[in-house]
Amino acid sequence: QKGQIRVQTENIFPIIKKFLYSDHEIFLRELISNAVDATQKLKTLASIGEAKGELGDLRIDVELDAKEKTLSITDHGVGMTKEEVDKYLNQVAFSGAEEFLSKYKDANIIGHFGLGFYSAFMVSSRVEVLTQSYHEEAPSVYWSCDGSPEFELYEIEKRSRGTKIILHINEDSQEFLEANRIKGILEKFCRFLPVPIYFTEAGEKLDEEQKPINNTNPIWTKKPSELTTEDYQNFYRELYPFGETPLFWIHLNVDYPFNLTGILYFPKIKQSYEIQKDKIQLYSNQVFVTDEVKDIVPEFLMLLHGIIDSPDIPLNVSRSYLQGDPNVRKINTYITKKVGDKLDEIFRNDRPSFEEKWESLGLFVKYGMITDDKFLEKANKFFIMQDIKDNKFYTLEEYKMATETLQKNKEGKHVILYTTDPVQQDAYIQASQQRGYIVVKMETLIDAAFINNMEMKWENVHFVRVDADIVDNLIDKQEKNESVLSKEETEQLQQLFSFELPQLHATVEVKGLSPDTPPVVATRPEFMRRMKDMAGIGGGG
Ligand code: ADP
Ligand code: MG
Repeated sequence: QKGQIRVQTENIFPIIKKFLYSDHEIFLRELISNAVDATQKLKTLASIGEAKGELGDLRIDVELDAKEKTLSITDHGVGMTKEEVDKYLNQVAFSGAEEFLSKYKDANIIGHFGLGFYSAFMVSSRVEVLTQSYHEEAPSVYWSCDGSPEFELYEIEKRSRGTKIILHINEDSQEFLEANRIKGILEKFCRFLPVPIYFTEAGEKLDEEQKPINNTNPIWTKKPSELTTEDYQNFYRELYPFGETPLFWIHLNVDYPFNLTGILYFPKIKQSYEIQKDKIQLYSNQVFVTDEVKDIVPEFLMLLHGIIDSPDIPLNVSRSYLQGDPNVRKINTYITKKVGDKLDEIFRNDRPSFEEKWESLGLFVKYGMITDDKFLEKANKFFIMQDIKDNKFYTLEEYKMATETLQKNKEGKHVILYTTDPVQQDAYIQASQQRGYIVVKMETLIDAAFINNMEMKWENVHFVRVDADIVDNLIDKQEKNESVLSKEETEQLQQLFSFELPQLHATVEVKGLSPDTPPVVATRPEFMRRMKDMAGIGGGG
């Protein structure tokens, strides 16, 4: 037998109400998104001559009446005819936005799923809708529903174009009758929406000078050529009022094969403990979605600040889905590439400035090189190390060239001599320098992890810390480490262990069979552990 599954509406409503969004405050984002959509639709229709007449002030008003226990959202957008109300509101999961998009491509519409409107019932005991379509001849209509499958729908006295939604806030949701709570939600989700939004409380004196709560024209939606350095810096300050001036930024702008705009800032960082993650905010058509961008931005770039806006990232789905989403993966790759290209560009065009910023930049670059092989490939060209003697910077290639004859070990590997503590190791540094060796600084928390990692990733390079015995004889040190295992066996063992422990980002060292050392040692740098903890990624200590 074949047939159709029947849905019992009485049962489905409570489920929608309960599980639609775990966060009840989302209802306001959804209703305002609808108001914005209705306004944008009107603009689209007007631009092609389908909507006629004056558009008027296209503001959105959010009004709170704590006494009456209502919250209302009013727009001057397309409105709905009686037929449309029946089609869009009486039919759960029927998205007018989707329908509109299929007809008028490229319109910046937020809606998708046709469920957003119902989120109103998470916080309301009754929802009323008063609406007038932009089709002037259509009568105004009234719709009301208490969250059961029964509704009222009838014509009312003529209203001006647009829609007013009145929420009667339910007993469990009284928090949404507090002005500060509503302001907080508006600030969070609506800060950069493209239509001006005003918030008023009932009884409040109307203020002629009242300003919208949002910036309708955030700079990431503009063309880079229209923007000045000051614009970027001011916007940074708007986002992070207490932040220091960022080092530089990348304006993202792509419309194929996915749509993405945004600005990523490289913040000034002196110490790795100053790093704050989760500073990137994700938007969809200027609606705030989340500041948890873990799967969208590669881990090492979560150190950046700024905004990513993409309507192509699925918003209301689970994390595990997000990870597998092809768009998300493409976006991740794109951002990594963009950041790599930008660093490369600055390095090539303005090396002095790149070197000047290395103290902060080095952290991103090294972290990226450790965790992302695609990035490593690019970064190999602009990664630099600083000579402790004269502060001169060397790329890997430059260092190799400068030390070609002196600093090679028995296996022909280039030896990079480094210091982790210039004061304590001063005597050794001096001695090394007298021999003509170049000692570079590797003093920060990430350097230990970096060195361990590059030992494996860079062929022909061996890091050696300046120490007594090295200074005496660079080559000797290598010989003392002789293992009873062959080079091949050592490599095999190393690969095997690295393969088994990738999530730890551990460094595997094969010590060989010596009576006083364990044959294989896996070390996980403190730095990586902390970074992981900060990012909330599992793994433990
Ligand atoms: P979506 O926005 O994903 O399409 P919603 O459940 O949020 O789904 O809304 C359903 C539909 O109801 C919208 O697509 C739109 O056609 C209509 N609608 C909702 N709010 C408004 C409004 N303020 N003005 C005009 N139409 C609206
Ligand atoms: Mg919607």
